[in-house]
Amino acid sequence: MRQIAIYGKGGIGKSTTTQNLTAGLAELGKKIMIVGCDPKADATRLLLGGLAQKTVLDTLREEGEVDDLDLIRKTGFGGIKCVESGGPEPGVGCAGRGIITSIGMLEELGAYDEDLDYVFYDVLGDVVCGGFAMPIREGKAQEIYIVASGEMMALYAANNICKGIQKYALNGGVRLGGIICNSRRVDREEELLRAFANELGSQLIYFVPRDNEVQRAEIKKKTVIEHNPNHPQAQEYRNLAQAIENNKKLVIPKPMTQERLEEILFEFGLMDNIKDSYHI
Ligand code: ADP
Ligand code: MG
Repeated sequence: MRQIAIYGKGGIGKSTTTQNLTAGLAELGKKIMIVGCDPKADATRLLLGGLAQKTVLDTLREEGEVDDLDLIRKTGFGGIKCVESGGPEPGVGCAGRGIITSIGMLEELGAYDEDLDYVFYDVLGDVVCGGFAMPIREGKAQEIYIVASGEMMALYAANNICKGIQKYALNGGVRLGGIICNSRRVDREEELLRAFANELGSQLIYFVPRDNEVQRAEIKKKTVIEHNPNHPQAQEYRNLAQAIENNKKLVIPKPMTQERLEEILFEFGLMDNIKDSYHI
């Protein structure tokens, strides 16, 4: 069983990409569970047809105790098992709490003892800290992919996430499997992401184009693979799934200094306005 965590800046496309690529893996016959680790609890809606899976924290609040996996886990497209950890009311308590509770409960109820090829954790956040580091801190996820784009803030976030991964990798077995570029149609984006990933000692594992078919599928509460299996974008997600299935390049990332990151951005013509935008 491979346990994979997907990190990346908020809004970068973690949940969309994770659900579409797991749909691709399901087509290959893989048995998968997704654990949504974002208080937004929208990590599985495209697989469940919008059927809001009640979160683990809400279920606990309402039931007092959970003794049945079916209360916190629904099966979606391709037989993918879907869990949403949920979070506290906004502004109250530690948002990472849901992840800690959920993983503990899934363990207790035997979810990891079942026949699974993959568990994916879709984790909120720009930084790997506190509760959000839980899947890697506790040695659950051994393999990380970071979703990024050619936009500067996405790359800053990806580099920061690598600092967190590096810290945990030195004590445990967690490794970076690669950077997934979810395109924002920035000039020379693929080349930039390749340079960025190489600098980290990692790889650009796949370049996912930006395509409105993703929105059309999203409105129908479906992955592109389910909504329009013959669309080229569906094939892109299948290719990403295959790239992850075949990936052997797992490394301890070497995060770069701010200066080096800015140098790379400069080389690709993305730093012209940095001084203005940051008032430095
Ligand atoms: P995150 O989980 O990182 O916060 P989401 O997966 O919710 O981000 O993505 C944010 C939005 O970006 C989604 O609503 C989706 O419509 C859009 N999106 C993501 N990937 C693509 C893509 N490849 N092409 C077009 N739109 C995309
Ligand atoms: Mg998300």
